[in-house]
Amino acid sequence: MSDSLAGLLALRSAPPTVGAADAERAAREIYGLIVSIRPLPGERDCNFHAVAADGQAYVLKVIALGTAEASADCQVRVLRHLAQQDASLPVPRLHATVQGRDLGELTLEDKSYATCLLSYLAGDALSAHTPTAPLRRDVGRVMARIDRALQGFFHAALGQRLAWDVRRLPSLSEFCSYIDAVSVRRSVQCAIELLGEALPRLHGLRCQAIHGDGHAGNLLVSGAGTVCGLVDFGDIIHGPLVLEPAVAMSELLTSGLAETQDLLALREGYLEVQPLESADIDVLHALVAARHATAILIHAWRRRHDPDGARALDAAAARAAPSLDHLLDMREALTLEWHRAAGTAPARAAFIDLGRRHRLLGAGADLFYDRPLHIVRGEGVWLYDADGRAHLDAYNNVPHVGHCHPAVVGAIQRQAAVLSTHTRYLHDRVLEYAERLLEKCPPHLEACIFVNSGSEANDVAWRLAKFATGHGGALIMAHAYHGITDAVSVLTPGAGQTYDDRVATLSPPPASFNVATQLGAPDRAAAVRTIDEALAVLEARGFAPAAFFLDTAMTSSGIYDPPPAWLDEIAARVRGAGGLVVADEVQYGLGRSGSHFWGFERRGLTPDIVTLGKPIGNGYPMGAVIASRHLIESFQRKFGFFSTFGGNPVAASAGLAVLQVIERESLVANAARTGLHLRQRLEALASKHDWLGAVRGSGLLLGLEITAEEGSVAKRRARQIVNALASRARVLIGSEGPGGNILKLRPPLPFALEHADLLVDAIGAAAAAIEAGS
Ligand code: PMP
Repeated sequence: MSDSLAGLLALRSAPPTVGAADAERAAREIYGLIVSIRPLPGERDCNFHAVAADGQAYVLKVIALGTAEASADCQVRVLRHLAQQDASLPVPRLHATVQGRDLGELTLEDKSYATCLLSYLAGDALSAHTPTAPLRRDVGRVMARIDRALQGFFHAALGQRLAWDVRRLPSLSEFCSYIDAVSVRRSVQCAIELLGEALPRLHGLRCQAIHGDGHAGNLLVSGAGTVCGLVDFGDIIHGPLVLEPAVAMSELLTSGLAETQDLLALREGYLEVQPLESADIDVLHALVAARHATAILIHAWRRRHDPDGARALDAAAARAAPSLDHLLDMREALTLEWHRAAGTAPARAAFIDLGRRHRLLGAGADLFYDRPLHIVRGEGVWLYDADGRAHLDAYNNVPHVGHCHPAVVGAIQRQAAVLSTHTRYLHDRVLEYAERLLEKCPPHLEACIFVNSGSEANDVAWRLAKFATGHGGALIMAHAYHGITDAVSVLTPGAGQTYDDRVATLSPPPASFNVATQLGAPDRAAAVRTIDEALAVLEARGFAPAAFFLDTAMTSSGIYDPPPAWLDEIAARVRGAGGLVVADEVQYGLGRSGSHFWGFERRGLTPDIVTLGKPIGNGYPMGAVIASRHLIESFQRKFGFFSTFGGNPVAASAGLAVLQVIERESLVANAARTGLHLRQRLEALASKHDWLGAVRGSGLLLGLEITAEEGSVAKRRARQIVNALASRARVLIGSEGPGGNILKLRPPLPFALEHADLLVDAIGAAAAAIEAGS
């Protein structure tokens, strides 16, 4: 247990074990009462229901001394304070000992206890009632009346370090690993994040003594259906006033006495008596969610270390998990509703105003998902939105070794603090990076040109190819994507540009091919026909091929995984026509296929030029072109070449760190392992739905085809799944291919088996929802 947890009270449920006979003796000796006794539940104190001979009922509390001395004193003083403030408050009255003291002393087998005797409040626990809106309102009213009366009450024990005080939630976060269900763990982590954001703001809020434990067992209800008692001041703390209704709201939800939409009644009742300010309401949601998370974490801890104590929380923890999910989904709506009811306005706009974005970036600036996401932080395979919610990233390949990998971030930070200049000065880092990259390449790829993006790398490759061959034509796959510069946009017909006369396209191989497919003579003939037709098209327009550009994963074309034999034929014909082969590794490079470090190796290709981008800097903008030294040097001699930022020391540091992490964390093997598991689970899922088709690709670049008789229906279903995953499951994927009907799964490489399971479960749930028509 960490230091921050040591001394945290009530993590373990440990009431003193005092028997009924000892309690009866205590009542007699300390209070002069002959009573009959039955035990009452208690988390930290030992409580008895005691009935005297005259029929008068009491609660006898036995409090273990040691850690709780101050707390015992506080509990009796607060009752005295409340009685003085407002005698009509529905709280227990304190009865003095025969010596006129508030606390009695009891010694049993050398252990010392404090006792106090309280009036027994008639009424049933709220938990035994069917809740109604008026009753929930009354809960709010009573809590608020007690808070008003608590103003001005101070005691040293109000600073007690209680595990249940939601402000301690961050120190419980190490118990997240005890939570079995990944989805619950994620929600709890999200609640911790939200609280982390709210904590600094709590300091500026009104603070005072609060009861702090308005749960359904502590609230009593009369026969007339009104709240007639609030008991147990053992969790009293000095804290933000708004924490009081927050705890009561959370407790109503986790005891099954309210649904999220019913919380308003409690809040309204509270506000009738005790106003809250706008800043209070801004943090209310985070506090309610934090109390839920606290219950889940304490339960998880007790299941390991205090099974008896856990049992008392089983039901609440089981309800807390789905309730927390719902709360997190409703954050904005609830906060706005609560503000409206209180006549206040949120202090800060939680959402980015889309109108502003359109004004500043143009309304056509691409956004993912029907409900665009506002992502503020990334870590590993997770992205976090402005509300602190975690989204599983199954889409982004730029954070190749995981979002914000500390080794890459550290390398960038360290170098940026020392020097960031360009390659016209001598610097070792860029050489070291080039050496490491080239070590991974076949020997004929000997030198690098560093640029800043995949588009630039392809732009340079295109120039190199034209220069080397003296030709002006290009061959690409249908629907290829190679970048955005003026020159390479012609190699990217899918991006809206018309086909250029200089460019001819090849049809993709059959989707059923995989890398191990044995090609028969007809298949080879088909491959030859594809390339011959494309060459003929070029020739008819007066062009010979300078290069065949191939995204080795054929991602935008629809994700294909053809065997080397298919490309053998094509590459041979390209070379026969005097063209070069350019392997665009922007998607597949650095081990994404799981089987090889480079995609071209999986394809059995020996490229003349390799282009790199996206993943190589893990988010730092970088691109690279790799070719023979002869080609690069003759190009440099003829044209000169310099990219201001390409290969700068910070970029080279980022690139080096990425290569090191891939090696150190065996990420290529992980792509193979997780990719295989993901494929198998997707295939099993597809076998259950006739409109889920083939799984394409390999490693951690997979496509799942959505089929339908009409292409537009397949595309719509794919979009529905992508959007449902983002908004309901918080799992991020995309769709791909000429028909937009292929789910594109392309996560950061640390994606583990459990993440693959989450992803497939989410797709399965979305597919089932589509079939159910919801
Ligand atoms: N080539 C391929 C295969 C790509 O997928 C991309 C980007 N999607 C590019 C080139 C262009 O890279 P960038 O966006 O970094 O310019």
